[in-house]
Amino acid sequence: MKNKFVFIVLVAMCSQSCSSNQNNYTQLRKRMVEEQIIPRGITNKDVINTLLTVPRHEFIPEKNRKYSYEDHPVNIGYDQTISQPYIVALMTELLEPLTFHKILEIGTGSGYQAAILAELVKEVYSIEIIPELAEFAKKNIERLKYKNVFIKSGDGYFGWPQNAPFDGIIVTCAPDKIPKPLLNQLKINGKMVIPVGDYPHQTLYLITKTSKGIEKKEIIPVLFVPMKGEVEKIKE
Ligand code: SAH
Repeated sequence: MKNKFVFIVLVAMCSQSCSSNQNNYTQLRKRMVEEQIIPRGITNKDVINTLLTVPRHEFIPEKNRKYSYEDHPVNIGYDQTISQPYIVALMTELLEPLTFHKILEIGTGSGYQAAILAELVKEVYSIEIIPELAEFAKKNIERLKYKNVFIKSGDGYFGWPQNAPFDGIIVTCAPDKIPKPLLNQLKINGKMVIPVGDYPHQTLYLITKTSKGIEKKEIIPVLFVPMKGEVEKIKE
């Protein structure tokens, strides 16, 4: 009888602390948006709401979870990072996502950027070169019950031709030149957001593919992990 009582008290304590943790994370997300996102000029309401909603901490391994809502990238293992919240917001806003869009992401990492896009568009296809990270991202995406994110492990340089063309492409690792296959898989009037340049001198570009050619707009200097695989061979 006494044991049963102790058990019930423990369950009640846990559910109380779990829900207070959730409240805490909701508060941290609100602060992140108020301090890091809005003051830096992000105005797209859908993007802002998505950053308020998606539980970023669920995409970060336990030991670094305490840094989830801080103003910097966070280590997710295998020498890779989840991008800084502002960079995720900026890249998403530049893509001008619409509810009927099909988006390709290169560099799934934790799956966080894919989840942000999943809230805004119809389908997200994402490619990750490190198999263990692709698995990590798949687990995160499944746990949070996103049904419109498709992840595969492979070299994103080649894109995902079976599902092309895409309304938008977002690249979260930096090649030193824009991969041709990605340009080919972009629809006319589609946008690509991509960091380009040799580490650590990279620039974030907004590319628009028009019927007359490619328009390239420089956005800001950035620091991303270099793109691996085929691009490294082309460089040699
Ligand atoms: N978008 C991620 C952050 C990604 S960090 C997030 O929201 O967490 C960049 C990722 O790009 C790393 O996981 C790295 O392994 C991956 N990457 C590097 N080169 C790649 C390539 N050629 N194809 C696919 N992924 C690549």
